[in-house]
Amino acid sequence: MKIVVTGGSGLIGQHLKTHLPKAIYLSSKDCDLMNTEQIDDMMNLYKPDIVIHLAAKVGGIIDNVNYPVNYIEQNLIMNGNLLRKCHEHNIDRVIAILSTCIYPDKSKKYPMSEKELFNGPPAKTNFSYAISKRAMAAHIDSYVNQYKKKWCYLIPCNLYGEHDKFENHHSHFVSALIKKIYESNDIIELLGTGKPLRQFMYADDLAKIIKFFIDNKINENVNVAPNYTYSIDDIAKIGIKSCGKENLKIIYKNDKLDGQYRKDVDSSNLLSILGSFEFTSLEEGIKKVYDNFSQRHNR
Ligand code: NAP
Repeated sequence: MKIVVTGGSGLIGQHLKTHLPKAIYLSSKDCDLMNTEQIDDMMNLYKPDIVIHLAAKVGGIIDNVNYPVNYIEQNLIMNGNLLRKCHEHNIDRVIAILSTCIYPDKSKKYPMSEKELFNGPPAKTNFSYAISKRAMAAHIDSYVNQYKKKWCYLIPCNLYGEHDKFENHHSHFVSALIKKIYESNDIIELLGTGKPLRQFMYADDLAKIIKFFIDNKINENVNVAPNYTYSIDDIAKIGIKSCGKENLKIIYKNDKLDGQYRKDVDSSNLLSILGSFEFTSLEEGIKKVYDNFSQRHNR
């Protein structure tokens, strides 16, 4: 089985390389998904049986708020181009990645099941990104319904890992937190109030689950998240403790930058597929990423 992975240079792609070492990992330089000719060339060159579609325009709250056009256009175009080309090139299986931040901003029921995906508008802070991802879900569902494709999507919660972007304007919360803990000996400043609730998953756990779906020929659309949900403040305190820097104090600024209050999802459908699966605890995952970050920066 030939497997092509888009977004192979990103956070999840880098983790997937350990679990699916024979797959072909593409960055935007290898194949720009905004360009249909490049996708045709790539498909003709590699003739994949399976496409794992990780590529996306991804970023933090500030970037999403400041550049919504970039998020909606690039994601709609690259997802649309790729799925159309997967159809034209008869790709047997596609696994694409959505995100729990595309769920409704407010739900009557938490944690949210997959059924809630379209039950209300997404959060304003990443509305454009969320709509582009919901469009991809509808696009995949349409191919499944009309052409009986064995295509599916996974809906993971927020991620962190050794291969994340740690620069401030691009980083996700846990990675930014790890960098701040590493760089400070007295105070760390965090955006917002610390009150929002989040599920965070070590990216390697998602990579293992993608491999399980490939190996076991599973094509179900399911949430992927550990069953623990913490406030941002809890996560920051867990991070400080796990990294052995208990003396650090946390200061919150700009209470308008909280983002969605909660978006925790129910992974029971996933767990019934996996049988048993141990998610990496936040303490252990943060410690691993912190140690790796420290080693790279102490050189
Ligand atoms: P990432 O680290 O930001 O990497 C993005 C990847 O997409 C890179 O490989 C990038 O290639 C590629 N890409 C961007 N524009 C492209 C284009 N025009 N053509 C081809 N490739 C392009 O992403 P990630 O964090 O691994 O996320 C992977 C997927 O998981 C995304 O769909 C994201 O929405 C989803 N997700 C992420 C999180 C999270 O917390 N990170 C949470 C839930 C879901 P270059 O390196 O060449 O730019």
